[in-house]
Amino acid sequence: MNKIFAVANQKGGVGKTTTCVNLAASLVASRQRVLLIDLDPQGNATMGSGIDKSELQLSVYDVLTSEMDPRKAIVATESGYDVLPANGDLSAAEVELLDMDARETRLRGAIDRIGDDYDYVVVDCPPSLNMLTVNALCAANGVLIPMQCEYYALEGLSALINTINQIQQVANPDLKIEGILRTMYDPRNSLTNDVSEQLTEYFGDRLYSTCIPRNVRLAEAPSFGKPALTYDRQSKGAIAYLALAGEMTRRHAANSRPAVAEAS
Ligand code: ADP
Ligand code: MG
Repeated sequence: MNKIFAVANQKGGVGKTTTCVNLAASLVASRQRVLLIDLDPQGNATMGSGIDKSELQLSVYDVLTSEMDPRKAIVATESGYDVLPANGDLSAAEVELLDMDARETRLRGAIDRIGDDYDYVVVDCPPSLNMLTVNALCAANGVLIPMQCEYYALEGLSALINTINQIQQVANPDLKIEGILRTMYDPRNSLTNDVSEQLTEYFGDRLYSTCIPRNVRLAEAPSFGKPALTYDRQSKGAIAYLALAGEMTRRHAANSRPAVAEAS
């Protein structure tokens, strides 16, 4: 089965979009076929992938609100991954979806139509727990939660975890927390270390051992419409996201291996 990740945290500015774009590019570097779905009306993942959101003929809005084939809206990028792009039209979908049948599972239906084309589908969620995020959580088999190691960060996580648990119970039994990712990480800060310790205690091995450092290249790359790996492949940020993709793919390989080796 392909891996479908919702990259979610209702807090803005924690590195969701940066993670989506750079993880997509890094998974391509490990020869995975990757689709990035932009589910934020701000369209930052779209722009950060070099696609002009103001020029879109079709977008994820059309896919959610009509039953259009997603392939019609998907755009290939020079970094090797595909994007189902978004722009401001998507904010209307939040409202329109409320009156539609199967309003929580429209995205899942769309991914079901194209899932075989990809090894990984990465969904960039908006900074709220709205109907768009619910669609991402109903479609995903894992949630990747980027967070900054700040004092209030843990408090914010409980609302997200409650939502994940509810969706798992009523709509999507496959959903699990794929991993917690520490972003904009600064090990010299003692608060960072305290929060890290609490995360390890609470999440155990679901906390990725890869941390993403604060790195100016990661902040600059979107204005060139590129992931850091394409913009500056030697940068600390690009290397950290490659390490994350490696950690993820190793985990998946280990989980899909039979528990007992067959006798030869
Ligand atoms: P979100 O999608 O959660 O709102 P973004 O990925 O857009 O967050 O990141 C918020 C801001 O922080 C952006 O300006 C982004 O370029 C910057 N940023 C994200 N991760 C890093 C990092 N590791 N180092 C430096 N800047 C970062
Ligand atoms: Mg974002």
